[in-house]
Amino acid sequence: MQYAVMGNPIHHSLSPLLHAYFAQKCGIDMDYGRILVEGPFKDAADKFFAAGGKGCNITLPCKLEAFEYAGRLSDNAKRAGAVNTLKKEADGVICGYNTDGPGLVKHLLYLNYPVKGAKILIIGAGGAAKGILGPILAEDPQSIVIVNRTAAKAEDLAVRAADARVSAVAFEALAKDEHAAFDLVINASASSIQSTLPQVTDALLCKASAVYDLMYSKEGSTIFTEHCRALGIGQCSDGFGMLVGQAVLSFKIWNGVEPDFYQALTDLRGMLGSK
Ligand code: NAP
Repeated sequence: MQYAVMGNPIHHSLSPLLHAYFAQKCGIDMDYGRILVEGPFKDAADKFFAAGGKGCNITLPCKLEAFEYAGRLSDNAKRAGAVNTLKKEADGVICGYNTDGPGLVKHLLYLNYPVKGAKILIIGAGGAAKGILGPILAEDPQSIVIVNRTAAKAEDLAVRAADARVSAVAFEALAKDEHAAFDLVINASASSIQSTLPQVTDALLCKASAVYDLMYSKEGSTIFTEHCRALGIGQCSDGFGMLVGQAVLSFKIWNGVEPDFYQALTDLRGMLGSK
């Protein structure tokens, strides 16, 4: 196997489908499989690369171990503290990259959602929030506020960003602040996976012109995007475009060719039987 996605669980991963599609579109012969990581990530990765593996994607719960494993790191990977793409370079060094945040930005710009000069609220302070912060800041927003169930984690993320545009707030304080208003609300929490809504008031959500949920579904909607749509927010997206965006960028790291993101998004949504 030359390429693979590694994680646990792994059977649900759409990465083999995405990369088979890119390889066919770009006329590249590429074999891409799934590897279930049951012990230490290092053992599975050593085995994969020793057997001729050229590159892999890393999904939960192995992104931090992949960060430790990499012999060299891209700037995005360093900032995120996590790796979702490994490549064995010509000099034999295994390099770690993080394409999750750039993948999200690719989709936000494609959707024409407010980013540059915008006031942005990020809900969640886990691995995904950490990974998207740097790439969003690079697009020059006016401000980013982070809110999280465990408020100390949002505070920690804001402090680590060391950027005057980034701050943290608790859900309770946000609910009480009647002047709070955001152009774009990004749900980077795991609330939708649990079929619950984050504790952001409807009054606050209604002021946003766009909302984005990092979680994705075959149907193209989540409990959060459905809720926001019902509130009358015109621009609501799930995270399928982020998934495709990160995959496009991983493919480019390995093959030097970037598949057409816009075409891929349309075709792959269709393949999944989505809206
Ligand atoms: P994670 O590291 O486990 O972090 C989970 C975060 O969600 C934490 O901030 C947690 O708050 C918060 N949370 C969990 N349950 C919640 C609830 N019921 N209400 C409010 N907040 C809740 O997970 P992650 O890797 O950051 O993933 C977060 C989401 O991003 C998931 O939906 C995942 O599927 C999605 N994701 C999508 C892509 C993509 O390509 N589209 C890529 C990566 C991740 P506490 O700190 O209080 O526990």
